[in-house]
Amino acid sequence: MIPFSPPHIDEKTVEAVSEVLRSGWITTGPGTKEFEKRISAYCEVPVTLCVASATAGMELILKWFGVKEGDEVIIPAYTFCATANVVVHCGATPVMVDICDDFTIDVEKIRTAITPRTKVIMPVDIGGYPCDYDAINELVKEDEIKSIFQIDSKEQELMGRILVLSDAAHSFGALYKGKRSGSLADISVFSFHAVKNLTTAEGGAICFNLPETFDQEELYRYLCCKLLHGQTKDALAKMQIGNWRYDVIEAGYKCNMTDIQAAIGMVALDRYDKTLSRRKSIFDQYTQFFSQYDYFQVPEYENEKRISSYHVYLLRIKNITEKQRDRIIDCIFAAGVSVNVHFIPLPMLSIYSQMGYNMQDYPKSYQNYACEISLPVYYTLSDEEVKTVCQSVLESMNIFNTNL
Ligand SMILES: *Cc1c(COP(=O)(O)O)cnc(C)c1O
Repeated sequence: MIPFSPPHIDEKTVEAVSEVLRSGWITTGPGTKEFEKRISAYCEVPVTLCVASATAGMELILKWFGVKEGDEVIIPAYTFCATANVVVHCGATPVMVDICDDFTIDVEKIRTAITPRTKVIMPVDIGGYPCDYDAINELVKEDEIKSIFQIDSKEQELMGRILVLSDAAHSFGALYKGKRSGSLADISVFSFHAVKNLTTAEGGAICFNLPETFDQEELYRYLCCKLLHGQTKDALAKMQIGNWRYDVIEAGYKCNMTDIQAAIGMVALDRYDKTLSRRKSIFDQYTQFFSQYDYFQVPEYENEKRISSYHVYLLRIKNITEKQRDRIIDCIFAAGVSVNVHFIPLPMLSIYSQMGYNMQDYPKSYQNYACEISLPVYYTLSDEEVKTVCQSVLESMNIFNTNL
């Protein structure tokens, strides 16, 4: 069986983890701080904060910005549930909008969804392909949009407009006009979950790129405390002689990254250029193969403005129904190849359909979802296996001649 996305764990990773285990310091400490600095350098941002997951990171930021009941957060209907769930955790309302043909959020749809209660826009770089950040960043700075923004917290006052919080879970390493993902929105959150391009088993990072009205170093120190129960000192600081006494300034969260995770991440970051070029090569091979047939629609992953991080290869099959797509997937699995669908749009999930979201309001999301199949992409997938995947997808199309 060709798996979909096994983690890339090599001997260096095992050694790096063993070293941390033997060091006597396994939770948040010098390793995590070093990983943060290295992410900042890679993404060309002033400050990065590592967290336990992208989900925890996005929630931490929404809470910090003062998002609460009665507020609205604009998200695409086509994303993983985490993007919406964190909004619900704050008691706020996810306002879903439709996507463009390339799977990224439709900026004109964002414009019509903005109300005086809109606090945050969360674009999602699906498959690793950056959204149109110039358009989104310009939109929130328009005088008319700024003039209806309601200020309910100190942070909202410093911002003076809607916050752009990128769900960059897929896009570590992607580029938009030569700038790295992480530096494209006010704040960007990466996921280092086991299936992502760069993994720490579980983990995430928040990159800050806020306007100059914010002191981002001070914000970093505050959030370090907020993600550890609101304690004024972390475990390492408390260990220092005579430094045991601490205070708790708020009922904070518990979502710090450990040095074990950071060690895995730093090995992955060292080889990340190689990771990206291998993933690109697999994308190119798929595109070369599938563009020979006019019933496949290959994804866009590079243009004059954007370069993907090659996270998910979103193949589409033209003019098929959702049921036919599902049967094709069964055939591909039967041929020994694991594939996936990214993603089931949120309005189709029980929780969001019960909350009143209706799939018919997001026709492009449904259309893209119904004919989409995500193909395996990972560093150790060989060219030979790529050919096997291509053949198994092609052969599964035979059901159209026989059983339909
Ligand atoms: C994986 C993923 C997340 C969540 O990441 P975690 O680190 O598991 O919390 C959020 N958004 C999208 C689009 C994802 O694919």
